[in-house]
Order: sequence, then structure tokens, then C-alpha cells
Amino acid sequence: MDYVTEVIEKTAKNNPDQPEFLQAVTEVLTSIKPIVDANEALFRKYALLERLVEPDRIVSFRVTWKDDAGKVNVNKGYRVQFNNAIGPYKGGLRFHPSVNLSILKFLGFEQTFKNSLTSLPMGGGKGGADFDPKGKSDTEIMSFCQAFMTELYRHIGPDVDVPAGDIGVGGREVGYLFGQYKRIRGAYENGVLTGKGLSFGGSLIRPEATGYGSIYFLNEVLKHDGKDIKGMTFALSGFGNVAWGAAKKILALGGKVLSLSGQDGTVLFENGMKPSDVDYMLTSRAIGESKADYANKVGAKFIAGVKPWGLVKADVYMPCATQNEIKLSDAEKFPALGVKYVNEAANMPTTNEAVAFLKKAGVTVCPAKASNAGGVAVSGLEMSQNSARLDWSAEEVDEKLKKIMKNVHAQILEACEKFDLGYDLIAGANIAGFKKVADAMIAQGIY
Ligand code: NAP
Repeated sequence: MDYVTEVIEKTAKNNPDQPEFLQAVTEVLTSIKPIVDANEALFRKYALLERLVEPDRIVSFRVTWKDDAGKVNVNKGYRVQFNNAIGPYKGGLRFHPSVNLSILKFLGFEQTFKNSLTSLPMGGGKGGADFDPKGKSDTEIMSFCQAFMTELYRHIGPDVDVPAGDIGVGGREVGYLFGQYKRIRGAYENGVLTGKGLSFGGSLIRPEATGYGSIYFLNEVLKHDGKDIKGMTFALSGFGNVAWGAAKKILALGGKVLSLSGQDGTVLFENGMKPSDVDYMLTSRAIGESKADYANKVGAKFIAGVKPWGLVKADVYMPCATQNEIKLSDAEKFPALGVKYVNEAANMPTTNEAVAFLKKAGVTVCPAKASNAGGVAVSGLEMSQNSARLDWSAEEVDEKLKKIMKNVHAQILEACEKFDLGYDLIAGANIAGFKKVADAMIAQGIY
């Protein structure tokens, strides 16, 4: 049996209850087969693939906190430290009721290759809790964040593991988490977290970075295809940090955004979003409005209980919410709707079956680990600023972000050429990200 199949089968046997993790491992290992086949003896000697799919460690802990009514609540907290071959563990924290080890392991595994693609020295990790921030007061969020960090602090550090935000964790939560870390450590180590407020070491452009980076990456792909974003139409899912940044940049570059969505349904903009609609997303989120209320305020249409897929004709479909949002049954509708690109801003938003269909149908899929790498890239730049005790201007950070995204695309092209893959962005991204991690793991000896 070939090495890739052997390791996929072993991973499935060892993790039968982790479908999202197995999905990510299958997708990555299958597409790096050309480089594995070319180096099989060396990789087998170092058990490289077996080591790659097993996190360095997983920390799991109880989070006990009091709500406003004085009731004591208990949640499960985790940190998955996946791979630190090329730098300290780095990856966000997710607070959502669906959080479990399968989801955090898939995210940490993906993060390892994504961080490698940024060319910055960051390993892969991910963490979070099954805590639902929806409907919680500010004091309850603070109480939860403090309790979470009271346990997490002993496992992280600016040179050890540097968490950031993800679903349910934004600037407010990172602020509370950092405050508690500082209190317990008795030292001002602000490089321990990224996505901080500007007054205590945060980087300009970090809130926008994932969405902006995703559009910069798409721009490289469009350039490759001889096209321009100006006048193109976009269907977005999500209503959070990533959707906001992407919408802002699409409008700035002359594109049209036709939809957004939340867990409660889809908002449709018949004539495209206006800049004021994008700005109002921030207020709407801060006051916890429903999507129906948001749609009402900005004069858009709201359809309850559905995703945007299949509702509008658009050149680019851009998932910005969560994993497995685009299933095969959704993807099958895309060609008739004129969709030419699926730009994955969320992590693993498309199932493997849907990706296979889209590829065959000639729809270009921009893989998440490349497209959304701008977020962690600017987190890496935030770490650099914290280490040097310097602040860079928004223009400087934005310029560096553009360069990084251009370089991500260039690395993919190089891998595609080397392994004769055509213009397969998925395989190219996986091979380029993997190569650097594999080289570092071999160079550092068996451990
Ligand atoms: P966020 O600000 O918390 O927003 C998440 C959005 O997704 C919300 O609109 C939420 O709906 C929606 N959503 C969450 N779970 C959902 C579900 N099960 N079904 C349907 N919709 C759901 O999070 P974010 O930071 O924008 O992250 C979005 C995606 O981008 C995630 O896959 C994340 O891993 C990825 N990502 C984020 C970053 C970053 O820098 N933040 C970087 C790289 C990748 P409601 O509005 O109803 O809550």
C-alpha cells in the first residue's frame, strides 16, 4: 500500500469519532502525494506523515465561571498544539457551542500549512471552548475569558504558543484574555496574544487582514486568468470579522456584494451593498441585532433559515462563516448560476465531494489555507512589532500583507510547475506549505 493511503487509513482507525479532522487529513495527504511519492523512502524513515497528523500535545481543561444571576457554569476548554517545527504554535481561539476536538484538530492541522505559506516563523495550533457567547452580557464574557485564561496561561507564551481570535473571539475577548494573562504572569508580555487593541500592542489592519488578504489572493488568481475584480459580483456568507473585511475591500476595488448570512438566515442586497451597509455591520454585531433587523435597517431583503448558496447569480462565491457550509448539493447549482470562483475565506468551508465536483465543472477553488492566510500573516506582523516594541503605520502593514499574499500565490505556482499539476491551487498550496514543515522536521531530528 502506498504511504499516503497507509497513513490516511491509520488516522481513520485511530480517530473514528473525528470526521472534520479526517476530512482535513484526507484532503491534504491526498493532494501532497506527488511530493510524498518522490521522497517516500526518506519520509518513511522519519515517520514523517505519522508525526504530521498527530498533534504535539492537546491540553483540555475545565472552565468554571459565574453568570450575572450568580449561577456557576462549567465549559470545556482546549488548546491543540499541533506542530512547532517552524515557529511557536500559532492559531486562534474559537468560542462556539459546536467546538470539540475534531474541529480543533482539523483547524490546528490546517493552520500548520497555512502558517508555513505566509513565510513567517509560526507553527500551527488552535484552541477554544464550547461556550456560546450569543446573548451573554459583557460581564459574563469577561468572567468566562478570565476563567479560560486562568488555566490556559500556563501553556502559552510569546515564544511558546500565541493564540488569537476566531469565531466568537474578537477584539473585546482578546482584551479580557490578555488582561488576565498579564495579571497572572506579573509581566507585560503582549506578544502572547494577537488581535489586541491598538493601545496595548495591537496592529493596525489586523481586524481587516483576513478579509483583505483573501481579496488580495483572489486578485492574484484573477490576474493569472487575465481578469479584474472591478465589476465582478460576489455572494458572501457570514456576518463576522472576515465577511466585513472582505466586503470592505471588494467595494473599494469596484466589486459588488450581493449577500451576507448568519446562523439565522441570509441577507440579500438586490443592488449590491453600500459602504455604509458594510460599516453598519460593526454596530449591528456590537448590539447583537438579528439579521432580519439588520436587513430592515439597511433596506435589504432577509430570508430566514437558508444559506446564500444558490439564491443569487454571482461570479464569485465566498464562504466567510464556518466549515462545511458548501456541500455537494450546493456546489451542483453553481455552474448554472455563472459562478467561476469559490474563494474560501472561512476554514474548510467546502466538503471534499463539493470540491471534486467544482474542479470537474471548471470552477476555480481558492483554498482556505492560502486565501485566508492574511489574518495570521498580520498576526505574525503584530508579533514582530511587539518584539521590536514598534508600531507600523496602516500603509506599511497593508503593503506587507499584499506582498505576503502575492508570495503565497507565487509559491503555489512554483509547486504546481514543479509537480506538473496545472493550475491546481489546492494541491499547490498543500505541497508548498508541507515542504517547509517537512524540511524543518527532518532537519531537527526525530522527536
Ligand atoms: P466571527 O466574527 O465570529 O463570525 C462568524 C460568522 O459565521 C457569523 O456571522 C456567524 O453567524 C457565522 N456562523 C458561525 N457558525 C455558523 C454556523 N454553524 N452556521 C452558519 N453560520 C455560522 O468569525 P470570523 O472571525 O469572521 O471567522 C469566520 C471564518 O473565518 C471561520 O471559519 C474562521 O475559522 C475563519 N478565519 C478567521 C480568521 C480571523 O482572523 N478571524 C482568520 C482565518 C480564518 P452569526 O452572525 O449568526 O453569529
